[in-house]
Amino acid sequence: MATRGLLGAIGRRASPLSVCRYLSFTSASRTISTLVIAEHEGGSIKASSVNAVEAAKLLGHDNSISVLLAGSGQSLQEAASTASSCHPSISQVLVADSDRFTHSLAEPWARLIQLVQQTGVYSHVVAASGSFGKNIVPRAAALLDVSPVTDVTEISEPRQFVRPIYAGNALCTVRYTGADPCVLTIRSTSFPVDLQAADSKSNEAPISQVDLSTFEEESIGKSRYVKLASQDTERPDLGNARIVVTGGRGLKSSENFKMIEKLAEKLGAAVGATRAAVDSGFVPNDLQVGQTGKIVAPELYMAFGVSGAIQHIAGMRDSKVIVAVNKDSDAPIFQVADYGLVGDLFEVIPELIEKLPEK
Ligand SMILES: Cc1cc2nc3c(=O)[nH]c(=O)nc-3n(C[C@H](O)[C@H](O)[C@H](O)COP(=O)(O)OP(=O)(O)OC[C@H]3O[C@@H](n4cnc5c(N)ncnc54)[C@H](O)[C@@H]3O)c2cc1C
Repeated sequence: MATRGLLGAIGRRASPLSVCRYLSFTSASRTISTLVIAEHEGGSIKASSVNAVEAAKLLGHDNSISVLLAGSGQSLQEAASTASSCHPSISQVLVADSDRFTHSLAEPWARLIQLVQQTGVYSHVVAASGSFGKNIVPRAAALLDVSPVTDVTEISEPRQFVRPIYAGNALCTVRYTGADPCVLTIRSTSFPVDLQAADSKSNEAPISQVDLSTFEEESIGKSRYVKLASQDTERPDLGNARIVVTGGRGLKSSENFKMIEKLAEKLGAAVGATRAAVDSGFVPNDLQVGQTGKIVAPELYMAFGVSGAIQHIAGMRDSKVIVAVNKDSDAPIFQVADYGLVGDLFEVIPELIEKLPEK
């Protein structure tokens, strides 16, 4: 029976190789006020944006945190209302109500951030490092004439941050010495929200409308929204799921990949994939985990037919427990796995599906 062949922990995860430091002057203490760029969907602020608020909280004790939401219609108003009580550290929610922002195009959003910065004069601008933040923040930083610090995993001081480099194999401590605002994207999995604190409904931050009367029409830019192609799925969001089941090229076809989906269904898990699986057309690229995909840190990460290339590890190495199944005992995935099974996934997965109880 394949599942009996568990090798145990083949190798504990290696900690990043080194820490390099770029230090210069120590900035004098100054007032901190932060603008958090938030994403919303279906009338709720996204969990990763709440992680960005949590990160902003670490910038300073008396940090005044404003959350910026934009879009239009009922779902924006509902999101503003949930945002106002989603985290006790939020001082105010700013709402930019216009169709221009509905599809999260970078050009109008970047202009909006510039406009809000002109009135609010924030010391920091923070967004989660998902596709929304990665799309908008560099353009906003360019308009503000500052250099962004991306993918921050630790805030040591208001202007000193730790971020991974070389696909997560080294951590770099960066001191920001530029002009205000200090623009950051943060890795949401590195700033888990203290749910007890966040649950306290004692905070109901005021909601204000952003004055868009000076918003320049030409800032809509050259990009146009065409359509949204997404799959309706009941599965948890890959970026925030407690369990992720990932398939690699070892699955061999999109038909076989359905086994991964079935197993994920049984476990109430999100589905992930390697870039090789995506490039082979097994699954769409929004499931890609890794350096150029999504960064995940679930409680349980299960990898089937995944070799463990450095670029894949970069996206899942912070998972609490990693289980790997691969027929090659020398596969590098076993170096980061807590539990490794040398076996054929075409035997192991059906057996797991059969033995696991219904949800
Ligand atoms: C700039 C750059 C960025 C990249 N970004 C990413 C990224 O974000 N995410 C990412 O995943 N990759 C990324 N890659 C690609 C990465 O280098 C690897 O090519 C990719 O991760 C390999 O995917 P894989 O493990 O599915 O495939 P392979 O490396 O082909 O491994 C397949 C594995 O399946 C095993 N296998 C085969 N059949 C079975 C079976 N029946 N049972 C059990 N095991 C089996 C094999 O032993 C093998 O270990 C990037 C590469 C570059 C250059």
